[in-house]
Amino acid sequence: MEIDRRNFFKVGIFTAGTLIAPRLWGDIGLETVAEQPWEGPPGHENEVLSVCQMCPNGCGIRVRIYEGRAVKIEGIPGHPLNNGSLCPRGQSALQLLYHPHRLAYPVLNKGARGNGSLQRMTHEEAVGLLAEKIGDLVRRRQTHRLVIVSGSHSDTDELILRRFCDSVGTPNYIKIESLGRRSRSMAMGLSQGIFKPPSIDWSNCNFVMLFGSEPGTSDISPMWLLRGFGELRQGRAGRRAKIVHVSTHFSPFSSKVDDWIKIKPGTYGALALGIAHIIISEEKYDADFIEHFTLGFEEFKEVDGTLRPGFKEHVLNNYEPAKVSSITGVPEEVIIRLADEFSSNRPAVAYGGDGPASYSNAVSELVAIHSLNALIGSIDVPGGVLIQRDPPLRMPERVSNNSLFTHNLSQPPVDDSIRSSNLPVYMAGSNLPMRLSDSSPYPVEVLVLVDYDPLEEAPGPNYWREAFKQIPFVVSFCNFSDESSRICDLVIPPGTFLERWDGKSVDSSVGFPVWGLSRPVLETPLDGMDPSSFFMKLAKSMGHQIAGAFPWQSIEELLKEIAMDLNPSPGQVNPWDEIAAKGYWSQSPYRFGRQREVYQTRGNRFNFFMYSMEAAASHLRSAGYANLDKTGTDLAQSAFLPNHNSAEFENWDNRELFFLELFGTTLSGHGRHFSLEGLRELQELDLNKSWGLWLLINPRTASKLNLSNNEIVWVESNHGKLSARVKKVEGISEDSVGMIFGQDKGTEHSDTLSNSAMSLVGENISPLGGGLCWGTTKVRIYRA
Ligand code: SF4
Repeated sequence: MEIDRRNFFKVGIFTAGTLIAPRLWGDIGLETVAEQPWEGPPGHENEVLSVCQMCPNGCGIRVRIYEGRAVKIEGIPGHPLNNGSLCPRGQSALQLLYHPHRLAYPVLNKGARGNGSLQRMTHEEAVGLLAEKIGDLVRRRQTHRLVIVSGSHSDTDELILRRFCDSVGTPNYIKIESLGRRSRSMAMGLSQGIFKPPSIDWSNCNFVMLFGSEPGTSDISPMWLLRGFGELRQGRAGRRAKIVHVSTHFSPFSSKVDDWIKIKPGTYGALALGIAHIIISEEKYDADFIEHFTLGFEEFKEVDGTLRPGFKEHVLNNYEPAKVSSITGVPEEVIIRLADEFSSNRPAVAYGGDGPASYSNAVSELVAIHSLNALIGSIDVPGGVLIQRDPPLRMPERVSNNSLFTHNLSQPPVDDSIRSSNLPVYMAGSNLPMRLSDSSPYPVEVLVLVDYDPLEEAPGPNYWREAFKQIPFVVSFCNFSDESSRICDLVIPPGTFLERWDGKSVDSSVGFPVWGLSRPVLETPLDGMDPSSFFMKLAKSMGHQIAGAFPWQSIEELLKEIAMDLNPSPGQVNPWDEIAAKGYWSQSPYRFGRQREVYQTRGNRFNFFMYSMEAAASHLRSAGYANLDKTGTDLAQSAFLPNHNSAEFENWDNRELFFLELFGTTLSGHGRHFSLEGLRELQELDLNKSWGLWLLINPRTASKLNLSNNEIVWVESNHGKLSARVKKVEGISEDSVGMIFGQDKGTEHSDTLSNSAMSLVGENISPLGGGLCWGTTKVRIYRA
């Protein structure tokens, strides 16, 4: 067989696991966290307030400590986000803290990666070693060859790591955001000028239409959403709201809503615009809101005479219900019913989740969905879309760029991203692992992974394996032996969020600003060092301008400075003391009616005609991006209105292929903490299957392929293949199969071969949103 680049990596898929068979730390007898002495004074009990970081949402928690051990986590009563309650993921944080496989100290791999001898180090020695490696780059003026990739949920890590990169002189701080977030942020940015996901006032809605959204898998806090749903379903006498779930597959969440609507993959935006068509043609839109708060509903002329098309005519001409029905598979009468219910049960809200965000047309689909909210005036009103305000934090000034390293800082970033003043969001480039392995645009010499396991979480794990081989020194900050850390040079356990100082802004939920204070809950924590403390120590050890960028003695001191401008409540003097006593700072209620804050667009209105999309498209084109989705390349003016463009799928084989639907669940999110046994067992409630990797398949498809339940099959995509057991599920379409993020963790495969479902996904990035399009994958299925 001729081995071309693609085949090379595909061969690697079948062989890499055995060639680099990793050894678990447990195998070589290193001491684990569970074996550490943790006893406190007999009978002593206390409670510490902190912030949950099992997901990015930042619920307030109180941790009960008995004789020095944390024994229970509960929510902080009165906390605006979770008001005393906690989701199962938050409660499982104690398993993370006391997990028997947690590593207690840094480990240096002294031989071949994955097979060498492991040497125990102190954190100070690890700081010294990394200072030596980066110091060498400084001496050779090659600091841009340092890359830090972070998946940490910590705001403080974000601040410190970015600052470290700025002060050293590398443009390569790469933040891994939750799936779908970039596209959701971009959709809000293009229409409202706010480049962050929307917040929703769930508890005051009368009608909720969720497009491909499962609680716990989008940016919306599951606690906020579930609390809101409880309120709108049962908490308002005589007023019970209706929840509609539009999705490609029937999930446990679908069974809990009032109305489940099945839709073809990649067509959510068409359905939204079909609904808009009915609302407009029947004149059921909010004319007053349209007149005062939107731009581009009707066609208009610029001062220079340029004629801009209007949303109204565009939708009436292009999205008739019959046409939309044939695109989406949703019956015409259902589209008409949804339009009627949505427009006559206000306040109503439409929200696009991971479903639409997963396809190549993500941004245009999400914009189309959000345009429904503008149509009925559901923005900045009770029960509508809110803007999440930020707390007035006193952030340190950026490191000035008159340093020795300005030249290095201005090198092109290795992920090919565009950071331009024209584009308010960071636009991710594609093929990061390929670029790393090809040394493009320059070789990388030190790669630092912070709370990120690309071999498990990223598409194309074998490209990552190849990238690792090209990089002389790879470091991973992680608490467990994961796929990536097993082939790193240095592994540094950062400890859990329950053992560190951190400040966390609530990002998209309640609307008004909330800032939570995270602090160590144990009096005698382990000898761990969180990434922020580690990098601050590292910077100080490097001297000169780098040390000067970190004047604080500790993260606690930095947080006190940051919190300086948070107004204390009446009667209180010191904001820090108040936050320390309460666990968080907030400023409620939400302020409605501040048009300039809600619409940071041209004319301070909702832009049906999206000027910033026009700017983004022309900027990306001039930056050499040829492969824009149609919305961005089409110069017709109507391209800058909400549109549905066909999603592109990977049709790579002439035989029968199925859409691969990769989804998260309320319990596991995108699967990061699936290795925690308690969470995994709870998953049984959702799926009736806990351990192992399962392929969800329609019973009729299974019988066509002659497959039975529990049978092992190969699932093969254009990027790799893996084995899974068949589970017949009626809720999956006949032309699709389903898998769950992270479900392979803890299986018999996990210490020999990456069996992550993400290994089936290609690195397809939506250029306009910068998000990964994980829904474009097609697979074939055959008996193993
Ligand atoms: S929603 Fe997120 S932050 Fe809140 S308890 Fe659950 S995991 Fe923790």
